[in-house]
Amino acid sequence: MGDPLEERESAAEALRLVADAAGPYLASLSDRLVQDPAAAPLLDALDGPLPEQGDGTLASVRELLRVGTGAATHSSGPRFFHFVVGGSTPAAQAGDWVTSLLDQVAGLWPSSPFAARVETVVLGWLKDLFGLPASYGGVLTPSATLANLTGLAAARHWWAERHGVDVSADGLAGLPRLPVFSSGYVHPSSRKALQILGCGRDTVRVFSRDDAGRVDLAAMEADLAAVGGPAVLIANAGEVNAGDFDPVADFADLAEKYGAWLHVDGAFGLFAALSPRTAHLVRGVERADSVAADGHKWLNVPYESGFAFVREPRRMAQAFAMPDAAYLPVGDEARINYNSLGPESSRRARALPIWATLRAYGREGHRAMIERHHDLALLLGKLVDEAPDLEPLAPPGLNVVCFRYRRDGLDDDRLDELNRRLGAELLEDGRVYAGTTVYRGRTALRPAIVNWRTGETDIELLVSVVREIGARLD
Ligand SMILES: *Cc1c(COP(=O)(O)O)cnc(C)c1O
Repeated sequence: MGDPLEERESAAEALRLVADAAGPYLASLSDRLVQDPAAAPLLDALDGPLPEQGDGTLASVRELLRVGTGAATHSSGPRFFHFVVGGSTPAAQAGDWVTSLLDQVAGLWPSSPFAARVETVVLGWLKDLFGLPASYGGVLTPSATLANLTGLAAARHWWAERHGVDVSADGLAGLPRLPVFSSGYVHPSSRKALQILGCGRDTVRVFSRDDAGRVDLAAMEADLAAVGGPAVLIANAGEVNAGDFDPVADFADLAEKYGAWLHVDGAFGLFAALSPRTAHLVRGVERADSVAADGHKWLNVPYESGFAFVREPRRMAQAFAMPDAAYLPVGDEARINYNSLGPESSRRARALPIWATLRAYGREGHRAMIERHHDLALLLGKLVDEAPDLEPLAPPGLNVVCFRYRRDGLDDDRLDELNRRLGAELLEDGRVYAGTTVYRGRTALRPAIVNWRTGETDIELLVSVVREIGARLD
């Protein structure tokens, strides 16, 4: 074995191996452990020196499937409540396979008019879904971190221009520090984006009126007025500890009054726009200068998938185009080179799974999923309220519920210790996955409900496993 050329004929056969494994694997997701400690030794099979003579296509793929279906984290199943992790709808997953099958270079119009066209279509559908103006520019990114980077890079270009500098050409030297304002809900990925952009993650000024991080608008306004020049506001539509929202419309009012740039991080919370029950949470997002969100969270598209929208499309090209490469084509409105609108150059056709899931389930199907998850968060909140050994730390957010295990006679510090241990044991146990956080100074669990497969029995199991483990800790 060796040269892939000798195995040209087995290409489809290898894919069939994957397809054959998919049925049993997907069927097992509802019952199996999220992470099976007994499967860990399988990982040893991955090691070893670089093969001199390869094993051949089928043996290699068979081995990868054997180890992977056993030892992977089965986070696309219904009981992974840690972080904010979506699954893959059947259409999105198949769409992702099509992406690999076609292996498009999506970024330059001439390299794939097909991929560019699908990207244009899905960006239009997403703007429609979230109630954003059709005139906004957009680009698909690998994640919300990179979508935040995209929006904040456009903001940085706008701000430098107001100071008479083309930051893309000349950099930040000589400019003052970029003034960025947010609440205590600001996600670390916005800071990371600012750190990558050379603005410094500590340039964010945080205005909180309580230890949960809720915004202090009056203090923010006073400081914003004192800046006297262009500034950037970051509104957080969906924070990860308790699922709460900054008042986006109030941020938009301030941005308008002081001529500031409003960036909205709606990684998962932007999906509140899909339901009339929750759309008020993101009211005002249609006035933002830039908006970031994730596909791989609540859209339930496979990793990696994010997207960014910018009110003035030219800002994206100003921040990201590479004008000096003579071998690269110059695009126009009909032939968009998406790689000049975002941080990547060569990129996969990540529009395909998004197209597949939106075409398969439409606005209604995705709305139903958002509402189901909101209902499940309310159910979880109710079960927490009813359990004498559980204590809610915040009202259920959009799809996040923040609570802790409690026991009579233990003070807060002892409860922190107990909940830290409970969190670790929960992951060790593997039946349900949920992580801990520190909320208002106290260690808490904060399960997030984002997977299309999740149902009431999964929520009930989460509660019963937490209580069972809590009871056996001393
Ligand atoms: C998850 C998340 C991000 C980062 O998203 P990635 O896709 O992990 O890069 C940013 N902001 C918020 C509010 C998030 O929940």
